[in-house]
Amino acid sequence: MNYSKNMKRYFSKYRIHLALVGIAILLIVTIAACSHHSEGSDVEALTTTPKTTATETVAQTDISTVASTTEPEPEYVSLGEFKLTAYCGCSKCCGVWGENRPVDSEGKTIVMTAGGYRAAEGITVAADTNVLPFGTKIYIDGHEYTVQDRGGAVNGNKIDIYFENHQDALNFGVQYKEVFILKGSEPND
Ligand SMILES: [Zn+2]
Repeated sequence: MNYSKNMKRYFSKYRIHLALVGIAILLIVTIAACSHHSEGSDVEALTTTPKTTATETVAQTDISTVASTTEPEPEYVSLGEFKLTAYCGCSKCCGVWGENRPVDSEGKTIVMTAGGYRAAEGITVAADTNVLPFGTKIYIDGHEYTVQDRGGAVNGNKIDIYFENHQDALNFGVQYKEVFILKGSEPND
């Protein structure tokens, strides 16, 4: 009677122990499978298993996973090839909009865009705002521009790049280049 009770207790204790070891091994195997991109943590997790408890192993692996994912690289998505043209604020480029532009305290012509921005060379581009809304950042040859303007002839896969000087705009001419956008800010077609 006593003997069998003791045996029962012994076995139930033994079973709990076995179950714990089983859970620990399962966890380690799963963690090792998840983190195969960082070789170091595999080896560490396997070699430290006999002495560490399951929770300790989980904590260790969490840290190494976080460390390997804390360098976010910007990802770019191609919008395809665009026809690039150039313009300035003059009446040749902008028609009536180019007449009687105000001048700032330094004598520079103030060109206000359709989006309500003051045009700036190297930043301002005009685009089809049905495709690329105002404020959209686009990348051409690795340079970041912002859609701040639009134009009657600027639709679809066309970008008009702003220059301060009319001659610079003429010199740009017409070019065809791939236009990129940050992943996550793609236009809805
Ligand atoms: Zn011009």
